Amino acid sequence: MNSFRDTIPTVDAQGRRVWMYPRKPPTGRRAAKNAPNFFALRSYLSWFLLAVLAFGPFIKINGHPLLMMNILERKFSIFGIMFWPQDFPIFALAMITGFIMIVLFTAVFGRIFCGWVCPQTVLLEMVFRKIEYAIEGDAAEQKALNDRPWDQEKITKKTIKHSLFFALSFVISNLLLGYIIGGDALIALITSPPTQHTGGFFALLLFTLMFYGLFARFREQACTFICPYGRFQSVLLDENSLVVAYDHKRGEERSRLLKGQTWEERLGIGKGDCVDCNLCVTVCPTGIDIRNGTQMECVNCCNCIDACNSVMERVKRPAGLIRHASMNNIDKGEKFSITPRIKAYSILLGVLMTALIALLVTRDSISMDLLRMRGSLYQTQPDGRISNTFEARVFNKTGTELRGNLRLIFPEGELVYGQDSALTLLPEQENKTLVVVLLHSDAITGRETSMDIGLEVNGRIVDHVKTTFMAPESAVQRRR
Ligand code: SF4
Ligand code: SF4
Repeated sequence: MNSFRDTIPTVDAQGRRVWMYPRKPPTGRRAAKNAPNFFALRSYLSWFLLAVLAFGPFIKINGHPLLMMNILERKFSIFGIMFWPQDFPIFALAMITGFIMIVLFTAVFGRIFCGWVCPQTVLLEMVFRKIEYAIEGDAAEQKALNDRPWDQEKITKKTIKHSLFFALSFVISNLLLGYIIGGDALIALITSPPTQHTGGFFALLLFTLMFYGLFARFREQACTFICPYGRFQSVLLDENSLVVAYDHKRGEERSRLLKGQTWEERLGIGKGDCVDCNLCVTVCPTGIDIRNGTQMECVNCCNCIDACNSVMERVKRPAGLIRHASMNNIDKGEKFSITPRIKAYSILLGVLMTALIALLVTRDSISMDLLRMRGSLYQTQPDGRISNTFEARVFNKTGTELRGNLRLIFPEGELVYGQDSALTLLPEQENKTLVVVLLHSDAITGRETSMDIGLEVNGRIVDHVKTTFMAPESAVQRRR
């Protein structure tokens, strides 16, 4: 009975790919008189999301990108709030909070994220698929085109389509890079010749090929085989979660609507509202039959809801044979209720969000890191003192320029840095300077001497770093 769960529609018995030709979902603002057209709603939302995707790297809040994940330079910006390497606990907590939010959202609303917000679905269904429909026509025409020999029309259509796909993939790769290095750096890169950054250019081409492969060929397979969120679905959903569901009580026993048959006659002989037109299957981008029940491949795109509602209108039955509903709603007629699981997730989410806000509010506005210079442990100076060289990285997370000083708090010695007596700490920047610490042998307690360096701003030590001062054995013996 559940044999459909043993196979997936996109792979045949020999393991070969079965290419999906989903039919265009019904257009218009309403799929039926009393039912919205979810495809239209998703299209409106996609315009907003695509605009965010396109302009995200260039939108700035407080002078910082809306979203930037600069892994290379360890700089992150979320909604214009900069996160530095020292803020990793906050960043990690923000990620965990985001994850719990998705878990809670999935427990209540099912996999709605996939169909409505996921960049893969938005780009595939709202950009690439629409281009495909515009050039090659609806499902039946696409299939006919693929089955026919390579004549002039086929070559022309395929060339235009794949050129557009490749160009769009190149644009997406650039935007992705913008989210990594920031919009300003991306513009600088685009406006300079590729010969000045051949490595980066080839990396871009590589990503372009990857996106092209994903949207031109791999498509729904990414959701079915690669995306971990799809796999999590089975543990996140329960019988109270809202999913795209077929009302089998109302629909079964499915059968074709016979000519001249009235609904009274049909229902009287035990037939249901499903007229077995198969439209819900033919519009599904993952090729599943939702009448079999909730399935891993379902990305909640709602195409089957729109399609079925349009059929229900034509056969004069109420909309909603396929709708957003929980299993308990369909099987037992229960209304949505807040289950203990949802309560537990909500409490956990509340705790995490409180902790996150507290950490954000109380995070240090100025902090310092000290890194020993690579390849240099110590140097012996002409006057006999031993020196160690470090790089100080001072993070000024405030919006104003500050003046700071570095102080050798412990042990006694000399600390030299920069060319000026004070450090200029540019606002919301990482400020770097070379620091040399010089100690006489009587301040050296061993091969490694404990050391404390403080950062002073406005006459107050705002941060300090405890590290060690390295010295040669000869300096240690001199002290003895
Ligand atoms: S679209 Fe509706 S009526 Fe047609 S097969 Fe699917 S569930 Fe049945
Ligand atoms: S079953 Fe319906 S909601 Fe799920 S992927 Fe297919 S068309 Fe979309």
